[in-house]
Amino acid sequence: MADSISGHLILIMAPSGSGKGTLVRYVREELSDIVSFATSCTTRTPRPGEKDGETYFFKTREEFENLIEAGAFLEWEEYSGNLYGTLKDELLTPLGEGKLVLYELDVRGVQSLSEIISREDMTIIYLDAGGWDVLERRIRGRAPITDEELAKRKERYEHESQAKDMADVIIPNPDGKLEETKQKLAEVIKAEYNKIV
Ligand code: 5GP
Repeated sequence: MADSISGHLILIMAPSGSGKGTLVRYVREELSDIVSFATSCTTRTPRPGEKDGETYFFKTREEFENLIEAGAFLEWEEYSGNLYGTLKDELLTPLGEGKLVLYELDVRGVQSLSEIISREDMTIIYLDAGGWDVLERRIRGRAPITDEELAKRKERYEHESQAKDMADVIIPNPDGKLEETKQKLAEVIKAEYNKIV
């Protein structure tokens, strides 16, 4: 377990297409005075509008594998042929400095992190946009996707939606209710911030 954590980690867990990107952007715009953001590394290609160092640190496979070799990751996983990982420095440095850190992760990553970071030092939020039909429509609307890739996403969704059980807070994000979702998310973040200051 990582010791010397005086801050708090907010993990956002959400199936692909659940609106996580939009909500995290909102927190960046509105709550950056109380929240620090940690960024994952990935080998996947950036989607339109995604910036290096913001959505992800985009790495080549070789760069990523070198980081694995160097022991730079707290955890990493491979999904749909791409590698994703959490850099030790990205999380442990700000948490050691007493900051409130927001981080997005999938269920396997959350399971790995909860073995490294004590459960009381983290709050797990699950964004619940609804069933697969809703997510499929959103995923298709976001960027071109092959049937094969979509089938993989569906399989992952089925796995990830079972992970609600791990969440401390479930925030619904149905179509047309984005403002309510933003407010609920802001409330949870502010409540955690008030506990560490
Ligand atoms: P996407 O390609 O849609 O941005 O992300 C695919 C999946 O990878 C999402 O479920 C996302 O939460 C997960 N992911 C992003 N960063 C990391 C990471 O650092 N570690 C792990 N294990 N999963 C990650």
